Amino acid sequence: MQLEGGGGVGTCFHPIETEPAVKILIATSEAVPFAKTGGLADVCSALPVELARLGHEAVLILPAYRQARYCGLPTAPMGIDFIVPIGSKTVTGHLLRSKLPGADVPVYLIQQDYYFDREELYRLNGKDFTDNCERFVFFSRAVLEAVRLLELQVDVIHANDWQTGLIPAYLKIEYRNLPRYRQTASLFTVHNMAYQGQFWHWDMLLTGLDWKYFNWHQMEYYGKLNLLKTGLVFADALSTVSPRYALEIQNPAFGCGLEGVLQSRRDVLSGILNGIDESEWNPDTDPLLAANYQVDTVALGKPVCKAALQAEMGLPQRAGAPLIGMIGRLADQKGFDLVAKVIPEWVARNDAQWVILGKGEPIYHELFKDLAQRHPDKVAVRLEFSDPLAHRIEAGADLFLMPSRYEPCGLNQMYSLKYGTVPVVRETGGLADTIVDATPQTLAAGTANGFSFREDNPLALSETLARAVDAYRRPEVWGQLIGTGMRQDWSWSRSAKQYVKLYEQIASRVRSGGAAELAPV
Ligand code: ADP
Repeated sequence: MQLEGGGGVGTCFHPIETEPAVKILIATSEAVPFAKTGGLADVCSALPVELARLGHEAVLILPAYRQARYCGLPTAPMGIDFIVPIGSKTVTGHLLRSKLPGADVPVYLIQQDYYFDREELYRLNGKDFTDNCERFVFFSRAVLEAVRLLELQVDVIHANDWQTGLIPAYLKIEYRNLPRYRQTASLFTVHNMAYQGQFWHWDMLLTGLDWKYFNWHQMEYYGKLNLLKTGLVFADALSTVSPRYALEIQNPAFGCGLEGVLQSRRDVLSGILNGIDESEWNPDTDPLLAANYQVDTVALGKPVCKAALQAEMGLPQRAGAPLIGMIGRLADQKGFDLVAKVIPEWVARNDAQWVILGKGEPIYHELFKDLAQRHPDKVAVRLEFSDPLAHRIEAGADLFLMPSRYEPCGLNQMYSLKYGTVPVVRETGGLADTIVDATPQTLAAGTANGFSFREDNPLALSETLARAVDAYRRPEVWGQLIGTGMRQDWSWSRSAKQYVKLYEQIASRVRSGGAAELAPV
């Protein structure tokens, strides 16, 4: 492979022989504040910060999208150019350097303006970019080149989702034989099985990998190139974002066709819940709220936040009406179809108020807009993406509704717990791992922190919501639920410690030659 430039680069890792720190390179297609379309971006900026806080050496690498270049943080050219092969051509890229705010975590951005200087990350006007495969072949190869050009000593490359699924394959097939990569392991984390990066088979040529890998045990899925499957097959270890989802995806109902691959690799598959970024999401310090509060002062602070939210959303300021909040992508995954079936009757028969913030499927835009117009005293809707409003809903609502069909981890229910807002959720994935349904037994044991239901139907949702609203009217029970949730630890430091254990295990397995045993089938 031809290379240009790259001399005289200071390494960001300073290995000291007695230093037990793990050295992690997190490769991602999104990270806050550079670029975000979903929870992946929150995870990939919070995790390295917490790893650094725990004394480990974490570095982040992502594409230099237009959003990243103009996110308000300096992104400085490093004077390092490189060339990677893409099919029969070669493409030049450049390295930019930045830093995560408030932390000593270096961020490298792969600049290639033809691929990444676009209005949106993956799609425009509802249509995926036609060259998405090529863009992420480039990014994946660039990540491995950056390791060499930046002279990084990496114990584990932590790749995330289909956009980086080729990284474990390139590492295993092309790079492991080179001295710098011999001791480098790969961890591939799936944040959502539904997004797989599937492309027509001729895109295999773009990867530069031998056609022999295009078989149904490795990179092929029913005649197509599947980048998520590629990551799952070639990585040294796999994880997903909650223990329950790690089990669920081994079954056809949640595995999105790749359950067989996951079953065959279950020995190296783990589930680690995401954490919440408490520097951003903490009702005691959140500058976006009308009043700050903590567990001892929630009874004073929340009513102020609730009244402010009602005023902001144009709802009557009724202190005693249960206020139900919802935030998220307006998609079937989030259970908005169930909500759509339940809400008209609730609005007709119950004094609860609804505040909905979301963007997504046009059908839900129409439905919620219509409901808000017909019931302005009970339903308020904002069809947009607004982080400040999300904070104010988490603080001002009494209940937070999240009846997801499936939920790999989910962040909003954890924000809700932290903000003293009682979650009502469907018992799936990370929601099942974080929310304990209020029953006489769990209330007596002091473990109840919300409400959940198992069946995927509107009746179950409606009944559970009714149970929650009933509890809202019993101040002792309600106070207990709020207190239990607010005292729990959903911080990144808890999750990051679990990642460190996993990194150490994978790295030592690869160092001791275990990677060979894990060679793809
Ligand atoms: P997913 O990644 O599946 O969309 P998560 O709950 O894991 O769902 O994370 C979604 C993140 O995006 C949360 O931080 C949530 O608050 C935020 N979010 C989603 N939709 C909106 C919106 N319309 N306005 C503000 N924040 C939003």
